[in-house]
Amino acid sequence: MSGMEMLLSGLNDEQRKAVTAPIGPTAVFAGPGSGKTTVLTRRVLYLLEQGIPANQLMLVTFTRAAAREMRERLEQVMPARTRELAVGTFHSLFLQMLRESGCNVPPLMGQAEQTAVMRDLLAERELPTDEETVSTYLNQIGLCKNNGILPARLRVEKQKNILFRDLYMAYESMKSERGMWDYDDILLAVHACCRQSEWLSHWQTKFLHILVDEFQDINRVQYEILVKLAAKHRHLFVVGDDDQSIYGFRGSDPKFMLELNKDFPELTRIILSVNYRSTEELIQASEQLIRHNRRRQRKPRAGTGVRGPDVKWMEPLDEEEEAEQILTHLTDGMETAILYRTSTQARAVVDALVRKRIPFMVASGESSFYRRWQVQDVFAYLKLAWNSQDLDALVRIINKPKRYLYNEDWIDACWARAKKHGGSLLAALPGLDGLEPYQIRYLSELRDQVPRLTEMNAEEAVAYIRERIGYDRYLESFAKETGSDLASLFEPLDELALAARHFANGQGLLAHAQEVERQLRHSDATAPVKLMTLHRSKGLEFDRVYIIGLHAMVLPHHRSLQVSEQRKAAAWEEERRLLYVGMTRAKTECWLSVSQTRQGKRVAPSPFAKELGHGGERMSTSAPLERKRELERTAQVFTSARAMSKAQPQLRFASEEVAPGMSVNHIRFGVGSIVEVTPLAGVAPGRKILVRFPGQTQSLHYELSRQLGLLS
Ligand code: ATP
Ligand code: MG
Repeated sequence: MSGMEMLLSGLNDEQRKAVTAPIGPTAVFAGPGSGKTTVLTRRVLYLLEQGIPANQLMLVTFTRAAAREMRERLEQVMPARTRELAVGTFHSLFLQMLRESGCNVPPLMGQAEQTAVMRDLLAERELPTDEETVSTYLNQIGLCKNNGILPARLRVEKQKNILFRDLYMAYESMKSERGMWDYDDILLAVHACCRQSEWLSHWQTKFLHILVDEFQDINRVQYEILVKLAAKHRHLFVVGDDDQSIYGFRGSDPKFMLELNKDFPELTRIILSVNYRSTEELIQASEQLIRHNRRRQRKPRAGTGVRGPDVKWMEPLDEEEEAEQILTHLTDGMETAILYRTSTQARAVVDALVRKRIPFMVASGESSFYRRWQVQDVFAYLKLAWNSQDLDALVRIINKPKRYLYNEDWIDACWARAKKHGGSLLAALPGLDGLEPYQIRYLSELRDQVPRLTEMNAEEAVAYIRERIGYDRYLESFAKETGSDLASLFEPLDELALAARHFANGQGLLAHAQEVERQLRHSDATAPVKLMTLHRSKGLEFDRVYIIGLHAMVLPHHRSLQVSEQRKAAAWEEERRLLYVGMTRAKTECWLSVSQTRQGKRVAPSPFAKELGHGGERMSTSAPLERKRELERTAQVFTSARAMSKAQPQLRFASEEVAPGMSVNHIRFGVGSIVEVTPLAGVAPGRKILVRFPGQTQSLHYELSRQLGLLS
């Protein structure tokens, strides 16, 4: 086979046309699985085959992993010439350019350092320093920088935005104090260099051919640089799919791709219409979804005629059942991805995989749910309960809720006193010198409450920390002070409450969290089961895909919709694209799961489920029809109750009027009848109810708390 035959082998006519398109600005627009990345790789080989020196090519990929894969594929075919190719992300290629042009690039802050800097800045302001908060702020800073917006140019009015600008400024000055750059500074520097004609002209000639994968996710600064680099020779070859643009929150915008002919009027557009990845059924389903987006370029989409099952819906009762159901399928060893909108959602599946000792891989950069700061706070209480000498834990929670112990002298005094009086730091606290009566009161309460945690099951202990000890109160005041969204602050704790159900006591929960972290650290990249966010799944493919937690508020995610009215429609469409990206990763099986409850509360399915034709008729893969009907009949007001016994804590009330003789529906025990409500009838804080369930030997006690849905 000649070189040319080889590089065109196995391609269809459209793909061949793309690979061999005349040299000049070319854009391949095509749907998922149509061979864009394949064509791009072959185009490189084609150019080399045409005698173009390898060092004149610049090949841009979206991730480092993709660059590595691309290089490996090319090396297999043309090992000698591939070495000289410039393959990488925008960041890595631009960095190379800066260095080669003699620019003294200061040391770069990696993600870990950026995180550390942001963490310090947040800590100085007494703000939470967990990964999610840190990455939210870093993303926002990235969004600004990728649009070329410097802190001084930010218009701010709301408290939240003032806080952001302050952090952005502090972040920038912290960087220059340390004499460092972040990766976005590379883009800005190259952008600035492009204004110097000599510099620009050098690089225009050096990289005669520019090729870009996933072009739909390019941002303003990157785009402007690219246009300048390609302006002279106009050898630009890009592939992308506007329907898969999912990084709008970092500044990427598919309009740069759709309007590429504005800067390159002679643009050749090539369309690939055959999806080689997925079955006809899956192509049709994803098409049905994405059709709802208004701002998109319609593309022809055909399959290869391979048939398979329809999209499968799961409607488990809750996250735990969702995880269990998925695990029963995994025994077949099929290559599987479990995808989700936010990493918290992976908690139940990860827990179940760890418990069942099934090897799995979590995409790098996603850390354990148990590292969330609220969870770590609750864990600090539990640690203290089992080890009254755990000073770190004590320091962590001493003012959560406020106990007004700010001057750090108490730490030494407490140690000294504990040593003298026999051990427990907690016991030593209220006896410290110079305390005000209110401080003594708070500290005595803490001393009495914490040891009680050892007598409870893990779920009760978590609830006790939140409700009685007052951790929820702390979060409420924290939300007020920082203008944060309270529901988001509570979310990890609601999730923790579910996780805790599996453990006889807090110590068991702590040990499990440690085991999860250990497994994540030693995550097995070759395992057939892979977990990742929808974002990270871009460009990849798997035999079977699960998308879990398809709920309203989750997809579209409520936080991504907290934007100005005029941006709402766009944000909504980006969330739809995210689901589309997830669904189109599947080759043969795609499972969409909508549990009936999430973190103990009844939740509506994602509006996208309806667009996919789900929801008219409710299906359940597990709940017997009888139980389902019963649930629907009774559930007018849904609330979860925390059993004082070790019972499962899910209760549904038929109405807010809770009185003896009325029936309640328990998710596991079925319909029971209320024996007693004390002191008064009704769902209200502090009321206790006694419920008898048929088939249970004992009646069960529940106590209702301040909030419906969070009962202790
Ligand atoms: P995405 O939009 O998800 O990034 P893509 O358009 O880049 O997808 P590829 O990843 O290049 O698509 O290809 C999808 C799958 O189809 C791959 O497994 C690839 O090997 C296969 N494929 C591509 N073209 C052909 C072809 N002509 N014949 C058979 N298989 C093909
Ligand atoms: Mg691709």
